[in-house]
Amino acid sequence: MSMLNIRAAIVKEIGAPWEIFDVQLAPPGPDEILIRMVGTGMCHTDIICRTGFPVPMPIVLGHEGAGVVESVGKAVTKVKPGDHVVLSFDSCGSCRNCTHHQPAYCFEFLPRNFGIGRKADHGSALSLNGEPLTAGFFGQSSFATHALAREINTVVIAKDLPLEIMGPLGCGIQTGAGAVANSLGLRAGDSLAVFGGGAVGLSAVLAARALDAGTIVVVEPTAERRALALELGATHAIDPRVTSDVLAEIKSLCGGVNYAFDTTGIPAVIGVAIETLLPGGVLGMVGAPPPDAMMPASLMSMLARGVGAKYILEGDSEPQVFIPKMIDWYRAGKFPFDRLIKKFPFEAINEAAHASEIGEAIKPVLIF
Ligand SMILES: [Zn+2]
Ligand SMILES: [Zn+2]
Repeated sequence: MSMLNIRAAIVKEIGAPWEIFDVQLAPPGPDEILIRMVGTGMCHTDIICRTGFPVPMPIVLGHEGAGVVESVGKAVTKVKPGDHVVLSFDSCGSCRNCTHHQPAYCFEFLPRNFGIGRKADHGSALSLNGEPLTAGFFGQSSFATHALAREINTVVIAKDLPLEIMGPLGCGIQTGAGAVANSLGLRAGDSLAVFGGGAVGLSAVLAARALDAGTIVVVEPTAERRALALELGATHAIDPRVTSDVLAEIKSLCGGVNYAFDTTGIPAVIGVAIETLLPGGVLGMVGAPPPDAMMPASLMSMLARGVGAKYILEGDSEPQVFIPKMIDWYRAGKFPFDRLIKKFPFEAINEAAHASEIGEAIKPVLIF
């Protein structure tokens, strides 16, 4: 097979806009799968990589792809042409954490998903007029009409599902929902406080609702997002710009919470989140902090309640297990993640990013 001519959105240097070009993609290797994209979600990680997180450039980003399999390499056995698939993050499948069902903590996570420190002899599958582009972002680079993935990050889904909006289950929605369901292990009746009502925070609300949580408090400054949080199953929504003492407010509502979930990465918010915890509670964190941020917590206060705090990657999810679980919830009407999605044509990728940055779109999905 010769090189394929596809179209891809390229970021040429830090801060540059996306530009769509005709590029060349290598045919699938023995363990690879070629997918024609139908819809790709845009995640905060795409935006921070465009604006400064040190990925090698020029690069094709995009890591919430959904599409149809066109062809597979000789060693691929579980995926076949015509399958509808959702793509997720990449992992090696063989390190200590991968073999313990924790692929989000794969020891090769950075090289495999961000191309950081990848071996120099790793030939790129993508090129523009003969110049190599960084390919394989999150094992896919799906801001393109076609992408290459492997079995480990390709999840086959049923053909009656709305394929074009399914991609975000592979990262952003999995990150919020998995944090609540997998990492925190929330059970029926438990209470939860969510700090930040974006795509990840609202996905945590959706999972808490699907698991029959008790009190669910969302702290979020944007009125539309607070309203949506309440529609999706939050029991209370607090505007931190109006409520001067958020901790006192949460305590007055429910006495405190079993679990807290921070999506903001803001140290002052994290400090409040830890203090909202009831004895034995746990704070899960996913927000990117400022580079010099430290944990703003009283150790004695944490000891007195036996509470913990931890960073969570990809919702502690095994994509092959957790994506089907979210789909089951969705089919049962308990997980309306489609309410978070706003569609844009692929050509409007910069408008989609802008709509996300100004809070107009919670989860943009690019349609091919
Ligand atoms: Zn691994
Ligand atoms: Zn993501």
